[in-house]
Formats: sequence, C-alpha cells, structure tokens
Amino acid sequence: DPPEDLGPDKDRVRVVVRVRPMNNRELERNERSILHGEGENSVTVQGAQHNRRFTFDTIFAIESTQEEVFHYSGIKRLVDMSIDGYIATCFAYGQTGSGKTHTMIGPGGANIFRMDENVRIKCFGLVPRAINYLFQRLREKSQETTTPYYIRVSYCEIYNEQIHDLINPAHSQSLQIRGSVEDGFYVENLFQTYIETMDELLTILEEGELNRAMASHNLNDTSSRSHAMLSIQIEQDISGEGTTSTEQMTRQGKLIFVDLAGSEKVKVSLSKGKQLTETNNINKSLLTLGTCISALSDPVKRAGHIPYRDSKLTRLLAESLGGHGITLMIACVSPASSCENESLSTLRYANRAK
Ligand code: ADP
Ligand code: MG
Repeated sequence: DPPEDLGPDKDRVRVVVRVRPMNNRELERNERSILHGEGENSVTVQGAQHNRRFTFDTIFAIESTQEEVFHYSGIKRLVDMSIDGYIATCFAYGQTGSGKTHTMIGPGGANIFRMDENVRIKCFGLVPRAINYLFQRLREKSQETTTPYYIRVSYCEIYNEQIHDLINPAHSQSLQIRGSVEDGFYVENLFQTYIETMDELLTILEEGELNRAMASHNLNDTSSRSHAMLSIQIEQDISGEGTTSTEQMTRQGKLIFVDLAGSEKVKVSLSKGKQLTETNNINKSLLTLGTCISALSDPVKRAGHIPYRDSKLTRLLAESLGGHGITLMIACVSPASSCENESLSTLRYANRAK
C-alpha cells in the first residue's frame, strides 16, 4: 500500500547548513571567521580572493542550539512522513571536525549518554530528539487508531566499501548487499531488532556509537572515514482499514539517519596503498550520493539513469533517494579561515543537492 505521491519536487530535498563555533585551536591561532550569515537562509564566504554567497533552506549560525536545529531543520516533517509510510533520510555532511556527530548525536557522540540527566537533555542532538518526537507522535496516533505500530531498528557502518553491524559487531565480517534496484537492496544478516520503548531505542543508539568509537580506536580513526547508518522501520498493520480483504496489509515507513564520512580531500602524497583505496572509496561514495540526491530534486534527471549501483552507500539508499523518498541534508562547516577550501567544497556539494 504505497502512500500518495509526494507532490512538488521542491519538497523532496531540504538542505540546511550549520556553522559550528570556532574551536580552541582556531581561536588560539587568531583565525578570522569567514562565514557570515545574511538573513535566515543565505551565507557569504569571505574568501582570501573572492566572496561567495549561497542560499539554502535554513542557516544555523554558531550560536544556534541543539533545540533550534531540531525545531527548524525540518526533521519533524521527516518523522511524521515516516509514520505515514514514506522513507525519510537525514544526512550529516562535512569535513571531519565540522560538527556532524555533535549535530546528530550530541557533543562527544556516545559520551552524551553518560552525562548528567539535565545536561544530557540540553545537549542531545537531532537523532535522540527525533526519537523522542517519534514516540510522542506514535502515542498520539495510537489514540486515534487501534492498529499497533511495530518498530524495527538496524545500525551499520560502511567503511572502505565494507559493511559492519554496529548493534551486533561480533558476527560482523563484511556483510553482503542483496537485492536489486527494482525490489530494493538490503544487507544480508544485518541484525534487526524490534523495540517497544524510546529508552530501548536510545540504548541501541548508545551501543552503536560505542561500537563505532571502539572500531575507530582499533583501526586508526576509521570513524571519520566511515558512514554510520541508523535505520528505524515503522510498520503498521492496516488490514482492517477500509478493505474487505482478509489479506494482511502493512504500511511501512522508514526513518534513516546517516552520519557521513568526513568529506575532506585527503592529500594524495599521504595516501598510499591501502589508504589510497580507502580515500578513493570514500570520495566515490560521497560523489555518487551527491549525484543521486541532485537527481531527486530534478524530475528530468530522475527519469534518467541514477547511479545507485556505484557505491554501497547509495545502493542501500536507493529506496530513500527515489520513489517515496524525502531527504534532509545538514551541511556542517567550520567558520575558520583555515577551513576555507573545505567549507567552500561542502557548501558547493550541499548546493548541488538541493
Ligand atoms: P565531526 O563528526 O564532523 O567530525 P564533531 O561533531 O565530532 O565533528 O565535532 C568536532 C568538535 O567540535 C567536537 O568536540 C564537538 O563537540 C565540537 N562542536 C561541533 N559542533 C559544535 C557546535 N555547534 N557547538 C559547540 N561545539 C561543537
Ligand atoms: Mg563524527
């Protein structure tokens, strides 16, 4: 039972920018801030040579809070639509250290869960806030309907074109992708678990983040070079709704969060052998993702060939990037002058996506 068509194309892809505050190192070096917001949705980069102006759906300036990002990013619409059967995906994109994990999970990633309750509530990033909102909406909905919702969760990491399970890392050699563009792709043997409460889901998030941090500790900071993908499937049995058929029918939506690998260009002189392959794989999947998202917002491109198959990330997201998908991209940038090139490259990438 597919949901209704999505209507105007402009509503499929939303792109917002978050500028983090300068960090201590940037402050100590007395760096100039080169990003200046103008109004709510335009930002100017005062580069060494040129000024460049970009327009997005919303710009979150350095003083923006986690709560404001939650309220004004458009994530609530994604949660609502995922309950209604759409596939909603939220990406964090940007160079390493630009604030992706801070924005998605909270300061220090998994550490947030060990903070004092009151502090934690304030620091929580978009994902725990969206989870809270999801359960709030489901509680409200369950007063209107008698059919229950089922929530199934999986959490995996794509590193160097290899897929690892973040919930159940023990049985994780690289997992394989099965399926097709037509029927959808899935990760074979990826652990999926049904959860009933918000706390269960938050625990999974915490364990996944810890496993991610652990893997990166052992493998020389892979976390900046891996994509972490949390997938929350929302299923509702709608057999009874307005049909006389005895066939079981379900409505299935999904809410997906992807903390993408750092977008920085790794200097080729430093990338040799194994590391060079990694770099190529990462840049390739981000490049393919950009191409696929830009096709989403353009009906002409969408009718043509979309290169989902070119990377594992986009294969897994084929469903999200086509048909019934709706996407929010949060581009994270540093305001410091030393990051000019990377910030420009992030804003250009984000600009192409919308
Ligand atoms: P990334 O995941 O993109 O590599 P992080 O989210 O780990 O970057 O951010 C790097 C550092 O900057 C962290 O210490 C983080 O807490 C801090 N930081 C990022 N964004 C903000 C922000 N908006 N406000 C305050 N600190 C931030
Ligand atoms: Mg990170």
